Amino acid sequence: MKFGGTSVGSAERMRVAAHLAAKEQKKRPVAVVVSAMSKVTDLLLDTMRHAEAGDRAGMERNLTLLRERHAEACRELLPAQDQGVVLAKLHDVIDEFERIVNGMAMLGERPPRSVDEAVAVGERLTVVLVSEYLRASGTPSVGVNARDVVVTDAVFGNASPLMEPTRAKAQALLMPQLEQGLLPVITGFNGATADGRPTTLGRGGSDFSASILAAALDASELWIWTDVDGIMSADPRLVPDAQVLEEITYAEAAELAYNGAKVLHPRTLAPLVEKAIPVWSKNSFAPEKVGTKIVPSMAVEHGARAVASMRHVALVSLTPASPEVNGVQVLARALEAIARADVEVLVLTSSSYRQNFCVLVREDELDRSVRALESALALELAHHYVHPIEVDRNVGLLAAVGEGMQGKPGLAGRIFTAISRVQVNIIAIAQGSSELTIAVVVRREGLEKAVKAVHAECGLGNRPPVPVFPFSQEAEGRAPRSGKR
Ligand code: ADP
Ligand code: ASP
Ligand code: MG
Repeated sequence: MKFGGTSVGSAERMRVAAHLAAKEQKKRPVAVVVSAMSKVTDLLLDTMRHAEAGDRAGMERNLTLLRERHAEACRELLPAQDQGVVLAKLHDVIDEFERIVNGMAMLGERPPRSVDEAVAVGERLTVVLVSEYLRASGTPSVGVNARDVVVTDAVFGNASPLMEPTRAKAQALLMPQLEQGLLPVITGFNGATADGRPTTLGRGGSDFSASILAAALDASELWIWTDVDGIMSADPRLVPDAQVLEEITYAEAAELAYNGAKVLHPRTLAPLVEKAIPVWSKNSFAPEKVGTKIVPSMAVEHGARAVASMRHVALVSLTPASPEVNGVQVLARALEAIARADVEVLVLTSSSYRQNFCVLVREDELDRSVRALESALALELAHHYVHPIEVDRNVGLLAAVGEGMQGKPGLAGRIFTAISRVQVNIIAIAQGSSELTIAVVVRREGLEKAVKAVHAECGLGNRPPVPVFPFSQEAEGRAPRSGKR
């Protein structure tokens, strides 16, 4: 079971989380992965920015907030006689954080390795509180730092797990705990390289931690507890009539996550594929609700099943300046440079005439992408073989996702029509050959309107569903006869 930030965001929420885990543990062994309390990771990162800038007052203010938030949770959660010991444990962890940020203030920089060590403190604090509460309320529990279990590569801030050594460590450390009837409470988000350097798995990475551990422990199920009723047909914050999906495939959930549905970290499903471990996405604020089951495959429903979107993206365009330049070679070099800079390409489009091509990247990876391109194409740019790199920040990404979109004529047209009907400009379009996703880049100010329009057009809301393929049967029926044309 994994509990996200809001599901452990206060003493009351931790109590509920602990009871949900303890109740299930009466039936079968349970391991728990926890996030930092909501907003704590942002606070830690902000403190490090103050440190780098030499702003001691800003650091102190944040450290006080951090101490108070966890001390308050401790006082509300634990019986008086336990509070002293637990407060001391919390303070030890926060002192460690303080030492690292003091070092950053002295250096005037934030080395990635130290950032990873420091930012994992949020999860460690939650582990102390939840495991101590479980013990105090009669469930034998042990706190575990994922540094001792999850082995990763050395890509600080966005590490990938090495599954073989992780499995060995999980079997050696966690399995005996589970066999003894203990309930391990493990930090989400972090890990360490094989030689012990601390790493993290990217923002929102506790979902990924949980799936890595579920795979390493051969779990029969993974339950991800969050603050909505499951995976929905759109982000309910954008689309009020979004509906909970009863079941969804790994591929659909992964596409939604990669296109911005924050409810799952994009890499969550990858470790589970091999053993086909099912995932439940459930609401810790309404645990009686069934939630969404994410499964390897299911009977395909027609059309799109959900719409995802991403606001903080930017479009980078490259255009060769003369027809003599081999555009494909420029593209190959550009992509290689972007890949080496560890930038994720969200959408890639190209046109054959001017050989112009665009890549969509996350806004926070934009500077890195442009620097990588400028250095890889320095000669071409200097000699004007390639036009200056263009960057458009005023864009957003929308993606309609569904396995049932494959081979269905007309759907793309309807999506584009729906977007243009609300007068939002389409800038780029991409559809993978899997036809699982249609991705559209639009003007940022129109993104929300476009998401609502596509959601309604695909019949995903609570209004009477518009048939998704009004002409498809007719068109399919007619196809063989008009084949000669
Ligand atoms: P946690 O802290 O539990 O990991 P997150 O905030 O990371 O929770 O993810 C849950 C949030 O994801 C929801 O509150 C919701 O606003 C957002 N979200 C975005 N897209 C979807 C979707 N398709 N279905 C459900 N929630 C979504
Ligand atoms: N606490 C981390 C974050 O906010 C990881 C997570 O919550 O999943 O990104
Ligand atoms: Mg999350």
